[in-house]
Amino acid sequence: MKIRVGLGYDVHVLEEGRDFFLGGIKLPATKGAVGHSDADVLIHAICDALLGAANLRDIGFHFANDDERWKGMDSKYFLKEVTSMLSEKGWHIQNVDCTIVLEQPKVNPFIDEMKKALAPLMNIPEDDVSIKATTSERLGFVGRQEGVNAYAVALISKA
Ligand SMILES: [Zn+2]
Repeated sequence: MKIRVGLGYDVHVLEEGRDFFLGGIKLPATKGAVGHSDADVLIHAICDALLGAANLRDIGFHFANDDERWKGMDSKYFLKEVTSMLSEKGWHIQNVDCTIVLEQPKVNPFIDEMKKALAPLMNIPEDDVSIKATTSERLGFVGRQEGVNAYAVALISKA
């Protein structure tokens, strides 16, 4: 069996009065992430981890941020598409582990809901999707609540 690991990282600006989509759900928050699509930083990091593991370039390569088709797009679509790209190459997703770095709001109460939203898009059990959250201890752009970032690693296998 062949196994490969992939790493994903993403960052988005936070702005007052925008909807905040994170991990496939809408968070109750006063600020939301800015982007060409729905700006779901966690899904974008996961997509890059999966694409990286399969050596299929990155999310911007497949879903360019100047392409009108992806304007305001629900990022859950991207994750579904990425899962299909991997599956076409014979790859199975084994597990995904992620960390969200965000000051406000606290995301721990929403992690189960995020796992429920994301696992089916990757055709894996919720138990194979780990989502962790931390703050930046008020340091830097995350600490000043100017942005949010996310890291993800993914393990994939081929028989
Ligand atoms: Zn992004």
